[in-house]
Amino acid sequence: MTETTDCVFCKIVAGEMPAKTVGETERTLGFRDINPQAPTHVLVIPKTHHDTAAAMAAADGELFGELIEHAHRIAADDGIADSGYRLVFNTGDEGGQTVHHVHCHLLGGRVMTWPPG
Ligand code: IMP
Repeated sequence: MTETTDCVFCKIVAGEMPAKTVGETERTLGFRDINPQAPTHVLVIPKTHHDTAAAMAAADGELFGELIEHAHRIAADDGIADSGYRLVFNTGDEGGQTVHHVHCHLLGGRVMTWPPG
């Protein structure tokens, strides 16, 4: 739960690493993914450190709701709220999670396919 000194997303929250931020609330931060997989690819994170979505939801269910609401507002700002978008929480190694500070991928601006890779 506490900030980890080697966590890249904690460093972005602390302003110690640059990021293209697209919005902020008291408890959440949105910034563009450095390796975008769609025209809109934003990561929305809690400012506090939780390893996974499940850990965050267990610790603070309200924060989980705030994160989703924030992602929707960013989608609206990018003009994709009506056409549709995808929210993804990769979880654990086989889930494809590479950064262990929970983040919601907001992907849109193109037609999404299924199944994901
Ligand atoms: P994961 O694989 O679901 O954990 O997603 C991690 C995401 O973080 C990947 O899409 C990376 O491109 C992205 N990423 C890693 N470091 C940074 C950064 O410093 N700024 C923005 N995005 C990052």
